[in-house]
Amino acid sequence: MDNLISRTRAAVWHPCTQMKQLETAPPLAIARGEGAWLIDVDGRRYLDAVSSWWVNLFGHCNPRINAAITDQLGRIEHVMLAGATHEPVVALSERLAALTGLGHAFYGSDGASATEIALKMSAHYWRNVGQPGKNGFISLQNGYHGETVGALSVTDIPLFKATYEPLLRHTVQVPTPDARLAGPGESAEAYALRCADALEAHLAAHADETAAFIVEPLVQGAAGMAMYHPAYLTRVRELCDQYKVHLIADEIAVGFGRTGTMFACEQASHPPPDPLPSREGERSPSPLRGEGWGEGECSQNRVSRVADFICLSKGITGGYLPLSAVLTTDDVYAAFYGDATARGFLHSHSYTGNPLACRAALAVLDIFEHDNVIAANRVKAIEFKRLMEEVAAHTRARHFRHLGMIWAFDVADATPGFSARFHQAALAQGVFMRPIGGTVYVMPPYVTSADEMRGLADAILACLSDPEI
Ligand SMILES: *Cc1c(COP(=O)(O)O)cnc(C)c1O
Repeated sequence: MDNLISRTRAAVWHPCTQMKQLETAPPLAIARGEGAWLIDVDGRRYLDAVSSWWVNLFGHCNPRINAAITDQLGRIEHVMLAGATHEPVVALSERLAALTGLGHAFYGSDGASATEIALKMSAHYWRNVGQPGKNGFISLQNGYHGETVGALSVTDIPLFKATYEPLLRHTVQVPTPDARLAGPGESAEAYALRCADALEAHLAAHADETAAFIVEPLVQGAAGMAMYHPAYLTRVRELCDQYKVHLIADEIAVGFGRTGTMFACEQASHPPPDPLPSREGERSPSPLRGEGWGEGECSQNRVSRVADFICLSKGITGGYLPLSAVLTTDDVYAAFYGDATARGFLHSHSYTGNPLACRAALAVLDIFEHDNVIAANRVKAIEFKRLMEEVAAHTRARHFRHLGMIWAFDVADATPGFSARFHQAALAQGVFMRPIGGTVYVMPPYVTSADEMRGLADAILACLSDPEI
């Protein structure tokens, strides 16, 4: 263990980390994984309560995903996608199109590259249709879309952005519909619609210079699992139609079942019966839908009715391999089709459409289908929510919220360093968690059992009961 820690400190530059802190808080030295568990080099086990940065869906070392990748390894590991194609990328594109109603998948290697692709594609579309002035972007306050220079330009998390501000392109942020910010007595829905009015005011003045509005549907993950009412998405879709601006759904974190539907923006056209909590202390009613929310029920219309572009990554390969995809409408695709090379979409990554990653993604879609995962998760989430009741009622917990397979709350008395202290205390309880500021969240792999969830809730309660944390 010590050996691996000293070697990592000497050779690896860890992401989102002040390396000096590794002196006092060494990273876990992971040797293997098993279902929802991470196992370190000394054999200690930690429940992966954040799905390894939100990517894992069906557990570590999943036999079915392992088998698909192993099979592909014996065929072709990679071939460039310019001038060549292959079965896994074609099959995956067909299935993603069938699921979203958006055809022609363009591939990147991670989430940030999907954001870059969607932004470039949107601006290039407007250029191709004779409106090159429409090249500006709007995003939400506290939004997160990745950290490469273009993606960071539409991200609004000061810690990640401020230092690099001189490198970035100017973009516009509009008020976030985060339900925690609703006024006294104001419902989450009313607040969301008030925020949509602010977007409209901006569009009314600047639609001519705006290419797209990019948004994380229903949950702003990096903002601290901020949740908002789906009426916001329904309304901003109308506004984007009215003002002729693209709507980019960044489903990198929330896609693939995280919010209770295959894609979060499916919930826009059918707002849930119960609103999110609007005020301090109110509990979130169950966001679980009644009948008619099965995967089979025409998810494609519900996605393409809301989004002009959808960005997918993270869960797409079940947390196995880096892969992202941007899907868009036939209208956008057609605007690039023609004789001139420069009219085509000029973007490439060496590993575009990697066959191993595509096979992992196909195995993930097979699991969704064969195990009826969306419906099974709905039942599981009802049970998990009950297991989290004591956490929700804890005196230190505020704004307890839940959607699909995400649970979160804010710690009322969190002081600087809370996140790091909670992280360490949770490790001592055998749980791997990383609170965002004073927000504690749980985003478990879908294979997590009720017993594992009970242990997780107990670990959170133990951490909360320590006044030093
Ligand atoms: C994680 C994330 C990204 C960036 O993905 P990377 O693979 O980390 O580059 C973009 N948007 C959202 C909503 C994310 O959660």
